Amino acid sequence: MQAIVKAKRAPGLTVTTVPKPTPAPGEVLIAVRHAGVCGTDLHIADWDAWAQGRLKPPLVVGHEFAGEIVAMGDAVAGLTTGQLVTAEGHIVCGHCLQCRTGNGHICKNTRIIGVDRDGAFAEYIVMPATNVLPLNGIPTQVGAVMDPMGNAFHTVLTAEIPGSTVLVVGCGPIGCFAVGIARAAGAAKVIASDVNATRLALARRMGAHVTVNAATDDVVRAVLDETGGEGADVVCEMSGVPSALHQAFAAVRLGGRVQLLGLPKGEVAIDFANEIIFKGITVYGVIGRRMYDTWHQMRRYLTAGLLDPTPVITHRFPLNKIDEALAAIRSGDAGKIILEIA
Ligand SMILES: [Zn+2]
Ligand SMILES: [Zn+2]
Repeated sequence: MQAIVKAKRAPGLTVTTVPKPTPAPGEVLIAVRHAGVCGTDLHIADWDAWAQGRLKPPLVVGHEFAGEIVAMGDAVAGLTTGQLVTAEGHIVCGHCLQCRTGNGHICKNTRIIGVDRDGAFAEYIVMPATNVLPLNGIPTQVGAVMDPMGNAFHTVLTAEIPGSTVLVVGCGPIGCFAVGIARAAGAAKVIASDVNATRLALARRMGAHVTVNAATDDVVRAVLDETGGEGADVVCEMSGVPSALHQAFAAVRLGGRVQLLGLPKGEVAIDFANEIIFKGITVYGVIGRRMYDTWHQMRRYLTAGLLDPTPVITHRFPLNKIDEALAAIRSGDAGKIILEIA
């Protein structure tokens, strides 16, 4: 089968032919139709310090996908061939303290497809049946972005949203999803900030009431003006940029909540007393998707038509155009990019 492979310990990705996998007991074989390209894939292609410390090439990359079940190993219950599905790409151990207390998203033994084992940028992938989620009528194009959209659902819906003022800091694809989710969940006002006008336009399209260009305007001032001087009830920090992190803490109201998803490149100096403690705020770190609360919530929002995430998907490429797909991410103007595989 055709696949995109990290072939060796060096920059670049290779489109090549690899053996088609076969499902072991408890696994299903999925013919991939659409796959999402993300920043993680860019780190792997560029072979940065994180990738060098984590990956053991050769392996098939890619972790966001949807497709059709075409074969099943023994002992698989509740799924059928022909079903259109997506899957949680974090394969967890099921027996650590976190897994056994309903916190599999922070399992200490997590293995990620396309990072620690063969991934989804291929014609076929095998997945543990326990990780598979039937799409129930959601198109595979949307199914392919439910992994990153799930991060946005996790970020937004672990805060109290109905009637709240929500600030989304950073309008990359996950930030734009977060804007749409906050609207769908009943936020009274959604304010979005970024330094890129194209991304801010996408945030408006996803339902942001107010957008602020952080390159030219004072984000904190704008949020205070929009909230009668109180600040935002909930801030979703999706950028990881140090200046934006400080804006997030400054713009949240006393007693409010800051959801941290964006990953800073290194250490960030925080004034704990003034930015967190004296404000009495709650800070929540977002990693992955809650298993499987987030997936079920997300599927209900999508099948009920509460949220249309498709405007965020701005580019589509065939599998063999992965270099063009990565270049589009590097440009900084792209929303979500998907590969059309079958
Ligand atoms: Zn991703
Ligand atoms: Zn575990």
